[in-house]
Amino acid sequence: MSLSEIKRQIADAEAQADRAPGSVTLIAVSKVQPNERVAAVLDQGHRVFGENRVQEAAGKWPDFRETYGDIDVHLIGPLQSNKVRQAMELCQAIHAVDRPKLAKTIARVAQEIGQCPDLFIQVNTGEEDQKAGVLPTEADAFVAECRALDLPVQGLMCIPPIDEEPSLHFALLAKIAARNGLSGLSMGMSSDFASAIALGATHVRVGSAIFGARTTQG
Ligand SMILES: *Cc1c(COP(=O)(O)O)cnc(C)c1O
Repeated sequence: MSLSEIKRQIADAEAQADRAPGSVTLIAVSKVQPNERVAAVLDQGHRVFGENRVQEAAGKWPDFRETYGDIDVHLIGPLQSNKVRQAMELCQAIHAVDRPKLAKTIARVAQEIGQCPDLFIQVNTGEEDQKAGVLPTEADAFVAECRALDLPVQGLMCIPPIDEEPSLHFALLAKIAARNGLSGLSMGMSSDFASAIALGATHVRVGSAIFGARTTQG
């Protein structure tokens, strides 16, 4: 597919769900993609990208910003405490806030540098052992903890289990967000972003459908 085709499908999904045009932000997930493919999407005017490793993002986006100007980079992968400062200086949003220690480190660095990216709390909706995120039953308490630290929590994020119907997980995430008064919902990837938009996604993270298959693991 192509960027314009994905944008058209997002617009269709917004219309079908009676959502305002443009209410969904498309995060083009560029992790491990060759720079030529990323440049091609930048050349088409897109300016919102997702990366799942700080190191990789740091090697790529400062250079692209020199050529293309302002670009929003969203960190969508797990974040180690020792990379928090670098991530916060490089990224406009962090989607995988998932533990008290990380929240506290982000709060401390925000004080030091006087800025903080938009934050999304990752919820492990499938309660999978190998996946990051707070458990659904712990989400309310963790949202409260982040708010007590004055963190700018925009919303929640999830990655549904591969072998389950994603819409059940999107609906669960939307429910947890609603009862916590959070409007942001980072959910939906290449194969399921339309159903995520139907269930309220405000940010969809689409990689392979825009850039083509990844040749190495991201
Ligand atoms: C890689 C990745 C995506 C994009 O996946 P596609 O299936 O290529 O669209 C979305 N979200 C996260 C957290 C990812 O790591």
